[in-house]
Amino acid sequence: MKLKNFINGKFENPISNEWIDNYNPSNGEVYGQIPNSSKADVENAYQTAKLAFPSWSQTTFEVRSRILIKISELLETNLQRFAEAESKDNGKPISLAKAIDIPRAASNFRFFGNAITQFASESHESIGQKAINYTLRQPIGVVACISPWNLPLYLFTWKIAPAIAAGNCVVAKPSEITPMTAFLLAEILNEAGLPKGVLNIVHGLGTTTGQAIIEHPEIKAISFTGGTSTGEHIARVAAPMFKKLSLELGGKNPNIIFDDCDYEDMLETTVRSSFTNQGQICLCGSRIFIEDTIYEKFKADFIEKVKKLNVGHPSENTTNIGALVSKSHLEKVLTFIDIAKEEGGNILFGGKKVIVKGFENGYYLEPTIIEVETDNCKVNQEEIFGPVVTIMSFKTEDEVLEMANKVKYGLSATLWTNDLKRTMRLSNKLQVGIVWVNTWMLRDLRTPFGGVKASGVGREGGFEALRFFTEAKNVCIKY
Ligand code: NDP
Repeated sequence: MKLKNFINGKFENPISNEWIDNYNPSNGEVYGQIPNSSKADVENAYQTAKLAFPSWSQTTFEVRSRILIKISELLETNLQRFAEAESKDNGKPISLAKAIDIPRAASNFRFFGNAITQFASESHESIGQKAINYTLRQPIGVVACISPWNLPLYLFTWKIAPAIAAGNCVVAKPSEITPMTAFLLAEILNEAGLPKGVLNIVHGLGTTTGQAIIEHPEIKAISFTGGTSTGEHIARVAAPMFKKLSLELGGKNPNIIFDDCDYEDMLETTVRSSFTNQGQICLCGSRIFIEDTIYEKFKADFIEKVKKLNVGHPSENTTNIGALVSKSHLEKVLTFIDIAKEEGGNILFGGKKVIVKGFENGYYLEPTIIEVETDNCKVNQEEIFGPVVTIMSFKTEDEVLEMANKVKYGLSATLWTNDLKRTMRLSNKLQVGIVWVNTWMLRDLRTPFGGVKASGVGREGGFEALRFFTEAKNVCIKY
């Protein structure tokens, strides 16, 4: 199947007529092709978006809201089709795509369709100076949304929905590794009545198509989710042009477990926070710190639970862990496991490729638990982004806090304790953007989402996203 770009409400071949193979991670076979879009395709997308902007930015919020909610409904109607496509393209279990990815993509449109009806700006009365100030929140113009492969439609729509809700027109690029659901989304946009040119989807490589987008002098804002080094590169390119940036980058998140926690709940959730989506979620708790009083018990129970996870073909309902997204990613994760061994890490479980019968060339890996003696080792410091966690024990709250903060990343942290004072102390001191206490990945779309340090700049979610996608202008009237 040949995917196409979506420009000005129409499906278009790349101008160069060059194509890139798209692989199915479950069997390692090429199953489609996507446009290898060039600068000229990006320029077309930009020009179209620019033409659509005056009308879209003046469209009433009721109309915008209605269209977004319609897109959401159409995603729900097509849940099965989208979930199958996502699972095939990414390697994730179909059950996960059906329960999380596609419903969340639908929620993103519904949420921002509703949020825009409540988005308000401030006014400040300057008493004594006989003046009133009010703030206009105006759409920026043409903006870019660039998303990664791990949660393809989920993260693509998390950016697009607030961008268009706020009245912008968009040039968007999904990851070339997982282009399928972005392509399918385009069909829905026309059906939902989104005017031509408001959302343009350009497929291609990050280093060419993505690069053309971030270099475009008239694209004034970039919302990006992806790796930290790509984020760094985008920041460098964008800085001289003073583009507005929202960067959601990598994570190496601590999962801190105290002996007073609700043990069974913690254990169940820790399996999920370690291995959901093959560990390919920026929020996964990949560094597990356990209080020494329950360390041996946890170790035995955790291994027992993880052993039961079923690594298999993504389309099987019994599969807990599907395929990793690509051959090169699988190799990268395996390299980290080798590094762990060299560094003296103890592989408690997993660490090897899995051969799934009938799909021998798929990219399957066992869920892997590595016991480390020091938090300074590479596998405990660098983002692996696969089904690999490290575990180690700690004695005191101060010690674990220091280890939790001693990485370059600062996206999220999970705490397991029933001690309220300890919860408050640690939540205040953890250098992250999100703290979960006695839960993981419980998301309320109104809350600010993002990280500190090398995990990014800016916040998405709720009004934060609508603020990002608008420029504040103060108007001061003397009376
Ligand atoms: P990448 O940084 O490789 O890619 C992300 C996106 O950027 C892709 O669409 C990619 O295109 C594109 N891209 C690559 N190079 C450029 C460039 N020079 N200019 C413009 N765009 C470019 O990340 P991955 O796709 O590998 O995703 C995994 C990373 O994403 C992990 O580090 C993970 O932690 C992070 N992530 C962060 C989240 C957060 O909210 N903080 C959430 C989810 C993931 P292409 O794929 O076609 O090369």
